[in-house]
Amino acid sequence: MRIAVLLEKQPGEARVALVPESVKKLVAAGVEVGIETGAGLHAGFADKEYEAAGASVMGRANLLPEADILVCVNRPEADDIAKLKASAVIIGFLKPLDEPAALEPLISRKLTAFALELVPRTTRAQSMDALSSMATVAGYKAVLIAAARLPRMFPMLMTAAGTVPPAKVLVLGAGVAGLQAIATARRLGAVVEAYDVREAAGQDVKSLGAKFLEVDLGGIETQDAGGYAKELSPEALQRGRDMVAKHAALADVVITTAQVPGRKAPLMLTEEAVNSMRAGAVIVDLAASTGGNVAVTRPGEDVQRNGVTVLGPLNLPATVPGHASQLYSRNLTSFIALINDKGNLKIDMNDDIVKGACVAYQGGNVHPKVAAALGIPVA
Ligand code: NAD
Repeated sequence: MRIAVLLEKQPGEARVALVPESVKKLVAAGVEVGIETGAGLHAGFADKEYEAAGASVMGRANLLPEADILVCVNRPEADDIAKLKASAVIIGFLKPLDEPAALEPLISRKLTAFALELVPRTTRAQSMDALSSMATVAGYKAVLIAAARLPRMFPMLMTAAGTVPPAKVLVLGAGVAGLQAIATARRLGAVVEAYDVREAAGQDVKSLGAKFLEVDLGGIETQDAGGYAKELSPEALQRGRDMVAKHAALADVVITTAQVPGRKAPLMLTEEAVNSMRAGAVIVDLAASTGGNVAVTRPGEDVQRNGVTVLGPLNLPATVPGHASQLYSRNLTSFIALINDKGNLKIDMNDDIVKGACVAYQGGNVHPKVAAALGIPVA
């Protein structure tokens, strides 16, 4: 079985799907690994490190036709998909629900593809949870970019020139990214408050030394069986927004991470709430790519509003490419172990993780959600 890793071509992308540490493991598990020349360079991994780990480093044109598995961070372009052999497998972030139409070339070529976004969030699949890995990196980096843009410092300092008060940070949404943002802001010395509709998040928030803000939502169920937030009624959302606006008005930094899987991100901060914030305050909207939690966010842009800076970064994990790649690569390697039988490809569609992540199996068995989005019959 041969695995190919390409240099990611998407603008701003600096991650690589496999790092040398994983290559070594895969080679020991009987797999051949081919890496495109320079694929890991932006993430801090040189070709010679891959060679030392047992990979062959070569040009893109030679890699694709020979690959049994193409691993990627972002979905490969159609012209790369066209060069793969008919039995090939693609594994990576394929945006199956956001951009299902882009999967048509691989379905029509009868390829097999696994989207890491669809790996079920079960205990057995934890080591393959690439979404959590990337959310961890994003939550961390969001605080650092806010700190760099804030005209104040984060920690309380007692100096000969007097005392500097700590920054006040408000985190909205206390899932994986939000909790990492809280932990990072606390390490920098900020006073942190956080809000989440899931009551269960309160314990996590408090254990990180932050204050959990509670809203009386009238006892409604806010969490589904999978532990994710449910979409709220307009009234419940409004109650959250009213409370959030009061706390945002006093905050130096607001990091928003609220998402509901498969839906547009909930609006957490209205234009009016942003206008009532202090001049110099910084908002980082981590939900920018799914519609934004802040009314004035523009995806990928910096917006200035009465002295308030609103940042809508689109790919923060790519700005910490070394560790983001390392985590992603470990997730990917755990997934590959499920389909590697002593160096041979063996896809067991009875395995709940393999089946759950499968977008298409030899062009068929199209994932029900993708099939529905594409208007093709569900297998
Ligand atoms: P996510 O990215 O979908 O959402 C981020 C957060 O936004 C969530 O905590 C959600 O409750 C919150 N949110 C949604 N709507 C909101 C609103 N209107 N107001 C305030 N907050 C709102 O979620 P995530 O970070 O990927 O994870 C969410 C949950 O899944 C957590 O409980 C996490 O512990 C759990 N999880 C489990 C596993 C596993 O078992 N393997 C892995 C990862 C995450």
